[in-house]
Formats: sequence, structure tokens, C-alpha cells
Amino acid sequence: MMTLNYPGLGIDYSLHTHTTWSDGLSSLEELCRQGKKMGLKVLGVSDHYYIHPNMPKRTRYTAEEYVADALKMRERYEDENFSLKIGLEMDFFFENTEEVLKDLEQYPFDYIIGSVHYVGTFPIDHDPSYWVDLTEERKEEICAEYWRKMEAAAACEKFTFLGHLDLPKKFGLIDNSRYFSHALRVLDILAQRQGALELNTAGWFKPCAESYPSCSILEEAYKRHIPVVISADAHQPEHLMRHFTEARELLNSVGYKL
Ligand SMILES: [Zn+2]
Ligand SMILES: [Zn+2]
Repeated sequence: MMTLNYPGLGIDYSLHTHTTWSDGLSSLEELCRQGKKMGLKVLGVSDHYYIHPNMPKRTRYTAEEYVADALKMRERYEDENFSLKIGLEMDFFFENTEEVLKDLEQYPFDYIIGSVHYVGTFPIDHDPSYWVDLTEERKEEICAEYWRKMEAAAACEKFTFLGHLDLPKKFGLIDNSRYFSHALRVLDILAQRQGALELNTAGWFKPCAESYPSCSILEEAYKRHIPVVISADAHQPEHLMRHFTEARELLNSVGYKL
């Protein structure tokens, strides 16, 4: 497994990506071809992996077939200037994360991103229509539980880095600053176990119009010496390095030198 050292990885790495194995638009092969052409030194594939404890939802593929495809692509595309890392974006659930991670140990994964997309059966980032009719009280309940799950994910040693830390802000329908103290708790837990974080540029293209996490959270991450990985959450090859220069500027402005 990769370990990420402070301050983090440069912009020739792109580790948060999706292909047709989950909800991405291109095959893994196409992603490799394009990533290499764009000058990435390291491309990581991190398709969604979830086994939902309360819903019949689960990933359509098995880890075995996914890894087999990635190993084949590694064979085909790797050279001295380009390497392919095999990862997953795994959904954290209190009920089964330990068990699922244990099961994944048999495969040669290089890294695993820990993310939270659900609170119970409520989908945090699928569509704003799930949020619009909620009372303020219900929104608060959902956000509080989201952050409780993030704290537990932060404590999980096997997650190489945490995905889109402050995701509930995505649709611009909640006041993210109200959850700042929750974010600080997550950062403290992460710092204590020397875990890492991503600066996910996809947020800039959503109604919230800022990176995940926000600048003020990144400032606090810097104070705690938490390594940061710039990532695009790319669902198509053209997005592999989307807004990476801006991300590096933002990180430099809070103190990171990448
Ligand atoms: Zn995600
Ligand atoms: Zn993702």
C-alpha cells in the first residue's frame, strides 16, 4: 500500500478517477491512454466500491475482475515515465467497513480512498432534489451523522486518504461553516494516525463552487501537517488534471509547498 508523506503529492499524480467499472464514462484503457498523453507520472484508478448494509445496493463488479483489468493495463501502458496504481473509492459504513477491508487484503491494491456518500439510505451527493424539501432540523441531523461517519473513516488505518471531506456542501444548500468544528475533529483524528486528505477539484464545478475541502479547512490541515493529494474525481479522461494548477496555488497560499 502507498503511504503519503507530508506535504503530499504533486500535480503529476491523479489518483481519484472513475471508469466504466463504476460511474465513469471511459474504459480504464482509455483513461490510461489519455493520462499518459497528458503527461501524468502516476495515474490511479479508484472506482466506487460499496456494499450497502441497509440497501440491496452494491458494486456491480467483483474486486477480482477489476484488479485483473488494472493489472492488464499496467502491463500494457507502464514505462519509466508512467505508472498505474490500483485503488478504490470505498464507501464507509459502520456496519461492515472493517470486514470489507479485510476481504480486500487478498488483492494487490496500492491505495484505498475512504469516502462517505450515504447517511443511512440518504444519498448525500446524488441529486439536489433529495435535499430541497428537508427541514433545517433534518438537514442538520444528516450533516451531523455525515461528520460522525467521517470521524470513524478518519480513524481507519487502511484508508490511504479521505475523499471530498466536506461533501454535504455540494449543492450549495447547507451552511458549511456551521460544521467547521466537526471538520477539525476529523483533522485531529487524521493527524494523530498520520493519515492523508485529498484536495478534490470537482467541487469547483458544482453549485458550491469551491474545492473539497474548503480553504479554511485546508489551513487547519496544514497546521496539523496532514499530507494532501490533489485529485480531480475525474469521471472522464479530459478531467484528469482539471483545475490542478489552481489547486496547487490554493495549497501554496495556505502554506503547503507542492
Ligand atoms: Zn466520491
Ligand atoms: Zn469519486
